[in-house]
Amino acid sequence: MRTINHWINGQIVPTSAERSGAVYDPATGQQTAQVAYATGEDVDAAVRAAQAAFPAWRDTSVVKRARVMFRFLDLLQRNRDELARIIASEHGKVVPDAAGEIQRGMEVVEVATGIPHLLKGDFSENVSTEVHGKVVPDAAGEIQRGMEVVEVATGIPHLLKGDFSENVSTEVDCYSIRQPVGVAAGITPFNFPIMVPMWMHPIAIACGNAFVLKPSERDPSVSLRVAELYKEAGLPDGIFNVVHGDKVAVDAVLDHPGIAAVSFVGSTPIARYIYERGTSHGKRVQALGGAKNHAIVMPDADMDSAADALVSAAYGSTGQRCMAISTAVAVGKAGDALIDKVMERADRLRTGPGLDPSSDMGPLVTGAARDKVAGLVETGVNEGAKLVLDGRGVRVEGHDDGFYVGPTLFDEVRTHMEIYKQEIFGPVLIVLRVADIDEAIGMINDNPYGNGTAIFTANGAAARKFQNEVTVGMIGVNIPIPVPMAFYSFGGWKDSLFGDLHVHGPEGVAFYTRGKVVTTRWPVPRDSAVELGFPTSR
Ligand code: NAD
Repeated sequence: MRTINHWINGQIVPTSAERSGAVYDPATGQQTAQVAYATGEDVDAAVRAAQAAFPAWRDTSVVKRARVMFRFLDLLQRNRDELARIIASEHGKVVPDAAGEIQRGMEVVEVATGIPHLLKGDFSENVSTEVHGKVVPDAAGEIQRGMEVVEVATGIPHLLKGDFSENVSTEVDCYSIRQPVGVAAGITPFNFPIMVPMWMHPIAIACGNAFVLKPSERDPSVSLRVAELYKEAGLPDGIFNVVHGDKVAVDAVLDHPGIAAVSFVGSTPIARYIYERGTSHGKRVQALGGAKNHAIVMPDADMDSAADALVSAAYGSTGQRCMAISTAVAVGKAGDALIDKVMERADRLRTGPGLDPSSDMGPLVTGAARDKVAGLVETGVNEGAKLVLDGRGVRVEGHDDGFYVGPTLFDEVRTHMEIYKQEIFGPVLIVLRVADIDEAIGMINDNPYGNGTAIFTANGAAARKFQNEVTVGMIGVNIPIPVPMAFYSFGGWKDSLFGDLHVHGPEGVAFYTRGKVVTTRWPVPRDSAVELGFPTSR
């Protein structure tokens, strides 16, 4: 006779089955198994296992916890028939009924995949336990960040949940709903060919919209693979579409009367153009532009940690990240130590092909990008900045025609210089020196860009003043690339964003939906009369 044992600490625990009960197949009336009845010790063992496991699970990031729910949901789906048969063979209910029960249970798991939403107060603890950009190779990291938006999209029921107020007036109720806008479009840059589109389409589609993606013409292939995966996942044809092209395709998107909303990410001049042309046609537009991200390094900062962070954030992805730290602002005596430590680390970086596992930094995207970066380095030298490390001469053996520029470092940069004013978008870190934190914050606030910024300090008061006063959308404290998790929204201020709403998270949901407020009266009143006064609550 089969014995059904306990499951404690991740495994079946054999019991002596001294105390057990019979399990029958109600359809045949035959006993099919015996089930072990737990003793006090068995229960205690289970509780102790749970107590021991709890602290680590509590400290596991909320995203990883949700991810387990997501995989669990997938497995429930795949094994639904078998589960239904197990239920039917012991309970006796018919298999479709059992399947219905499983379905309702899965709906709760679906809600649990959105646990980041449910736990979100004004502060989310343990959004990550890793330091971004260090743990995984760059391209894999990009895919990971895109997947996090998909995970948020699996929790869309929470985000679309409206409000209901009973008796706003006598027998009058009021509720709000959010409905999809229709067809939304995304126009995206080359530097994150999978992640930036995924800031948009999972949320748009989960909100109920159809989506047209115009990816960068410089690295378009991955978008087609994404389209195949959507199809494999069961997305109906036509909900996700990819159109490749340049300005002609973009203009067609902006002018098309069938497109209700346009999300754009790219350089500032194009972002401004997209916003103006799209909104002139009555579309809602969110257009994220370029950046010049500053990091303040206070004299009290841990200089090794700050230098590690700056080198990672300045040279990761060859500086072609909208959240790259391209500008370090050294306060007081921080400058000399910082330059030495950054120099030491940057000099060790290996520039080479992206597919070579020994490369730390790959090439720039095109020959034109390389020439632009090299030209700006020359401009910086001519303007009088001190070139501490020059990456222009880097040679990659066997790849003489690659678009390489090595890590480059400038000291003594001033705000009137072109290398300060322009977004270089290459592996060039510039260092400016200032007397105090007020001067540093003033510099950041005078800069037309306002995407991301960071402070490195051991002083909580300085960090608090900084996050309170800077006119920038995304702030890092001892974190160099403060890209918000997908259940928060991503976006800058000033010339880094045209439009009102940031991407993904709650603002992404707001962007891809329209609100509706419904007021109802039941029952219909018998004693109604014409009343021209403005309706008020009674
Ligand atoms: P880009 O502005 O050249 O191109 C972006 C998109 O616009 C592409 O799809 C391109 O085909 C289209 N486009 C280009 N020129 C156009 C024109 N004249 N008319 C209409 N459409 C046009 O940007 P890029 O070089 O691909 O990407 C790098 C830029 O993107 C950097 O400035 C970077 O800071 C910015 N970026 C910003 C963010 C952010 O979140 N703010 C994120 C990633 C990249």
